[in-house]
Amino acid sequence: MIRQFELVERVKAYDPNADEVGINGAYVFAMKAHGSQLRASGDPYFSHPIEVAGILTNYRVDSATIETALLHDTIEDTPATLDDIKSHFGNEVAQLVDGVTKLTRIEYQSDREKQAENFRKLVLAMSEDIRVLLVKLADRLHNMRTLHYIKKDEKRRRIAMETMEIYAPLAERIGMQEIKTELEDLAFAEINPEARRAVVKRLETLRDQGGELVPKIIGELSETLKENGIEAEVHGREKTPYSIWRKMQKHDVGFEQLSDIMAFRIIVNSIEDCYKALGVAHNAYRVVPGRFKDYISMPKPNGYQSLHTGVFGPHQQRIELQIRTRKMHEVGEFGVAAHWNYKQGIPNQDGVTQYRWLRELLDILEHAADPEEVLEHSKMEMFQDQVFCFTPRGDLINLPRGATTVDFAYAVHSEVGDHCVGAKINGKMMPLRTELRNGDQVEIVTSKAQTPNPTWERFVVTGKARARIRRFVRLQEREEYEKLGRSILLRTFKEADFDLTDKGISGVLKKLGQSTEEDLYVAVGLGHLPGRDVLEAVYPRAKKQTKKGQDDERVVPLAEARNRKRSREKGEGGVPIQGLIPGMAMHFAGCCHPLPGDRIVGIVTTGRGVTVHTIDCDTLEGYGDEPERWLDLAWDRDEAQHELHVGRVHVTVANAPGSLGDLSTMIAKNDGNISNLKIINRSTDFFDMLIDVEVRDVKHLTDIIAALRASPAVNSVERSRG
Ligand code: MN
Repeated sequence: MIRQFELVERVKAYDPNADEVGINGAYVFAMKAHGSQLRASGDPYFSHPIEVAGILTNYRVDSATIETALLHDTIEDTPATLDDIKSHFGNEVAQLVDGVTKLTRIEYQSDREKQAENFRKLVLAMSEDIRVLLVKLADRLHNMRTLHYIKKDEKRRRIAMETMEIYAPLAERIGMQEIKTELEDLAFAEINPEARRAVVKRLETLRDQGGELVPKIIGELSETLKENGIEAEVHGREKTPYSIWRKMQKHDVGFEQLSDIMAFRIIVNSIEDCYKALGVAHNAYRVVPGRFKDYISMPKPNGYQSLHTGVFGPHQQRIELQIRTRKMHEVGEFGVAAHWNYKQGIPNQDGVTQYRWLRELLDILEHAADPEEVLEHSKMEMFQDQVFCFTPRGDLINLPRGATTVDFAYAVHSEVGDHCVGAKINGKMMPLRTELRNGDQVEIVTSKAQTPNPTWERFVVTGKARARIRRFVRLQEREEYEKLGRSILLRTFKEADFDLTDKGISGVLKKLGQSTEEDLYVAVGLGHLPGRDVLEAVYPRAKKQTKKGQDDERVVPLAEARNRKRSREKGEGGVPIQGLIPGMAMHFAGCCHPLPGDRIVGIVTTGRGVTVHTIDCDTLEGYGDEPERWLDLAWDRDEAQHELHVGRVHVTVANAPGSLGDLSTMIAKNDGNISNLKIINRSTDFFDMLIDVEVRDVKHLTDIIAALRASPAVNSVERSRG
């Protein structure tokens, strides 16, 4: 434990004008307030605020910040009040302590909405005074260093997760690289101890093999730079297990391939020397391609400046070099604390750029309606967007946040994804849609019989999973259309008294522009190729039978054409409609598809004759002002019963295997014939389509609709009315 005079000495070493009385007062006040309280480690509680203050002296913070560090837990954990602190230490310190206290309270909320609200407080507090955040980060750092003393697993894990997700990114955002790195590694040790142990063990092995490489390389680098007339200070370190781990995931490499586990910093006197040192390094060692980054001319958003490069070092291992000036080094390590003007009201030039993200976040907060939204935004801003999970063998699977077990399955292997039926997360059976969390161990249960389910698309987030599911669904759809096309053709051929044979079909593929028989059936099923065309291609005789009126069939919708054709064939006497003006052409409206039994009305259009609509067709509204064009019509029952009419239904059907097949079977069973089919909307779970069915009359169509409604695959069926 740092003693009172030591702490004052440390502060005075960098700030001769430090408020000695204030710091001494805070030390004593806190010691008295915490009294005999103990930490989980068994140490007196008071050791904690002193350590926090000690950490902050490394960042050369001002006296008010040191006092705040000493007092930071007194309001939350002791009988002391904010007023007590205000009267002893003044407004500035009281406000800072209040800010830290608010941040501390965040830990006691787990409910998401409350977190967002507190998060808002956190951000507001930070923006009021960045020193609050400095104290909070130092507080969290000390708590993480002593995390292992906490007995409850769940509590340790929660604190570690919070550190990883909130505090480490915050430290990074304000440029406090050193704190960020340590926080992450400490959290990693709690969240994924096995992985960390594996990395540490591997590091030890490498060290045993290569001896103490870091000091050797420092010596060689220093020598080389000196020979070239550059005055430099060289520091070297192994990267932390967590940063090595991250790199393994990011570049998807195993430990064997990952050799740049050492990083060296070359600190020089001027920007010019930075580039000179870079030249020396690139001359002396082989360069690792693609690793050079110039953050001096293009600083990072948090103000970080440095030259980065990768070389094969003196012993042929890949090493990372960071070259920078002393000033840049301080900014890089201490972040915002390196600038002394961080108090509110005196923003310096750097301060402005550094806190722009904070201002942006505040903007979002001001304009966001609900806390959930705030949380979403803030996540985007500062939370890591990845989750790291493991296979039972311990292989790491790296997924975007929000990924589910199905994403995991596809990430392991496409086959595993295609056949997955369930998942065990940390040994417990969970639904496939379960979102994965950092560190989850996931075991996928597969079955040969399983195939990708279109509904999975609703909850997968990775491109790979989505692409595989879609591909499968497309293939399956093709099969459905193929079946449908085959049944349409069977019917068309049968009606015309011809046989549908494989030989017949394969003989006309070229003529109809199809590569395979399957393609032909699919084209018919999709409605791209009329069944009649296939019939006539196979049996040219069939064409002669119906030659009359065939000429314009291609340019008008199939359904309408059939009716027109039939009307003409029969001549005026055979028209199934009463009330027409003799000599005037008649056709059925494509919007409402009138059927015998419907109440109907005709609309006269000069040059085009009479269009027959059902009385409730929406299109009629457009003619409301022109009563002279309306014609009262009625069906001629005797004539109408001799022919088939096309009715159109709007069907919503589940996007599931077999549902299209069910649909066509159901219509055929009820003596209907699909003459055209058009998909108007396709989502992951449902199809919306228009189906033209040849029927005798409205009752026949109603029977078919009733039958379709009874089918489990069908969500809804309505007669289409324009
Ligand atoms: Mn604390």
